[in-house]
Amino acid sequence: MKIFHIPAFHDNYIWAVQNGDFISLVDPGDADVSLDIIKSKNLILQDILITHHHYDHTGGVNALKKFMKGKVYGPKDCIFDGIEVPLVENDTLKTLGYCFKVLETPGHTLDHICFYNQEDKILFCGDTLFSAGCGRLFEGTYDQMHDSLQKINSLPAETKLFCTHEYTLANLNFALSQINDSEIAKEFKYLESKQGESFISLPTTIKKERRINLFLLEKRIPELSHLSDLDYFSELRQRKDSF
Ligand SMILES: [Zn+2]
Repeated sequence: MKIFHIPAFHDNYIWAVQNGDFISLVDPGDADVSLDIIKSKNLILQDILITHHHYDHTGGVNALKKFMKGKVYGPKDCIFDGIEVPLVENDTLKTLGYCFKVLETPGHTLDHICFYNQEDKILFCGDTLFSAGCGRLFEGTYDQMHDSLQKINSLPAETKLFCTHEYTLANLNFALSQINDSEIAKEFKYLESKQGESFISLPTTIKKERRINLFLLEKRIPELSHLSDLDYFSELRQRKDSF
């Protein structure tokens, strides 16, 4: 599957799945940058996939609809009113010949879903998981977010994760404030050396996240190791919120 990114706003990525001259977009928060690419590359917009209702993920949908051949897929019970095909856990959709299964991942928002392609092991994970971090809890509980991240962590290790923000360096900086870890330090140094170039740290993989993402609980801060999984996760998320 060919996938490319369209930078939007300050640090968002709109992901484009391409098959021939056709593309489908994941979370097009900005119509202008999407249309620039569509027009300059002579592409045809097939479908739009939405992970959750936030404006930086849905803001471009209505303007893009008149250029689109297919449908807008997104979560059921989404407060954004542009969803044409509402989806729930285990639903499947096909776009450009590729099949995606829906995983419900509440926490960042209550409506949040991810799109998983089993054949190519690709996950569009919106604002649930970021490389070396996870989304803020705007609507859900710590319990929900912990379960959502473990659902992602249960996918095959080689699964590629297409997150929607470039937060990796900041997340690694937080991680290093909490734990002395050579793998996280090495990744931080590498990304730091890439700053200023038009470098993108994504996609990541589950295998890599298990080594650098403290929110998957594969690596633990020694001083908190006595806590239960949920208490540990809650404490970590609160520390990140106030970092
Ligand atoms: Zn969001």
